[in-house]
Amino acid sequence: MLSFENTEVAFRYKSNPDLSRASMLFHTIASPGLVKIGKSLTYFALKLHLPIAWVIKPTLYKHFVGGETLDECEKTVKLLRKYNVRSILDYSVEGGKDKETMQRTLEETLRSLVHAAKHPDIPFSVFKPTAFASQQVLTLASENTSIDSPTADAIRFFRESVEKLSLTAFENDIPIMIDAEDSWYQPFVDQVVTEMMEKYNKKKAIVYNTLQMYRTDRLEFLKESLRKAETGNYFLGIKFVRGAYMEKERKRAADKGYPSPIQPDKAATDSNYDAGIAFTMDHLDRISVFNGSHNEKSNRLLTELIAQKGLHRDDDRIWFSQLYGMSDHISFNLAEEGYNVTKYIPYGPVRNILPYLIRRAEENTSISGQTGRELGLIELEKRRRKNI
Ligand SMILES: Cc1cc2nc3c(=O)[nH]c(=O)nc-3n(C[C@H](O)[C@H](O)[C@H](O)COP(=O)(O)OP(=O)(O)OC[C@H]3O[C@@H](n4cnc5c(N)ncnc54)[C@H](O)[C@@H]3O)c2cc1C
Repeated sequence: MLSFENTEVAFRYKSNPDLSRASMLFHTIASPGLVKIGKSLTYFALKLHLPIAWVIKPTLYKHFVGGETLDECEKTVKLLRKYNVRSILDYSVEGGKDKETMQRTLEETLRSLVHAAKHPDIPFSVFKPTAFASQQVLTLASENTSIDSPTADAIRFFRESVEKLSLTAFENDIPIMIDAEDSWYQPFVDQVVTEMMEKYNKKKAIVYNTLQMYRTDRLEFLKESLRKAETGNYFLGIKFVRGAYMEKERKRAADKGYPSPIQPDKAATDSNYDAGIAFTMDHLDRISVFNGSHNEKSNRLLTELIAQKGLHRDDDRIWFSQLYGMSDHISFNLAEEGYNVTKYIPYGPVRNILPYLIRRAEENTSISGQTGRELGLIELEKRRRKNI
């Protein structure tokens, strides 16, 4: 029977020293004050080009990141697979600036995609929209206002990159997910991703869009996407997440004087998320679902819907996923029970991964509530091991 309390299963892949390191890390980032200071110091050091890898690499990086290259991630991929957990390797470069970096990121993402296609333990590929266009360019494209020629070039580069990745995913028969970032440039991303689905999802979901269910408009967007898919006769791939940029969204809305696109409170986000999952499970003939969440209730809900509908636990239209370094009690217990589970594993040079690491640290402070749970389970497992 599925239990998220089973710490023996949850942490089987961690040695005693691994567990102690994780415990120390979560104790440290539990302090919002420390995380705030750490964040400022890190950006300061980055600005001055001071070396920071020596602090970050053995701590946050080791816990949340697979390595600098695809090859370096292989050890982790193999280890997780021993426990029926698959991997998604995410070349985590955020906020693409110059063309050269974006071109390099495109090449690495293509490499990562082909690597996944050949690898039995990597069932998806992934990228972030801002890897191939700046936020400013995506915003202008979303606003549909008049644009100058460099912006038009940048928009073209974005389109061509997404097209190339989607086509390669289709040719190699490996699903590709496009992450969601800020709401104000999501309209253009949605438009391009929908075009890719129309083209490459004729037989099954190859291209997946991401819906941030903390947004008030996403359930309606999901229903509209289904209507379009039915009319256009293609399949929808949907990655559900709650959304990682709530404060930024609310602040921008307040600064610019438009209504916040975010749900009024956590309970509203939770029920919107679960409504999205339930809607999808009623339309599995056309939608494949990727449940990207650390929320125990939402994960359990999906298992209950699988049972209610008499589906196999490893139905290939239904996937569960958590971030590497978080919520092992969910991932490994689901995998033990035979569900399709992946860990999202970022990889890349330390400098490039810093924004991701800072988000993880912030998400895991005591204020967000996640640390208590993680730390409690790690301590429980340490005690269990001591007593055997
Ligand atoms: C595999 C995977 C892929 C991901 N990909 C993306 C991505 O592409 N884009 C992205 O934005 N995020 C992504 N995330 C992060 C995700 O959006 C969440 O930030 C994170 O997973 C926490 O939400 P949760 O469902 O795990 O559960 P919980 O911890 O139960 O929920 C926390 C979330 O609830 C919401 N919330 C909290 N307080 C409030 C409030 N007062 N009012 C309204 N809502 C509130 C916020 O979204 C917050 O992040 C991904 C996460 C995973 C596991």
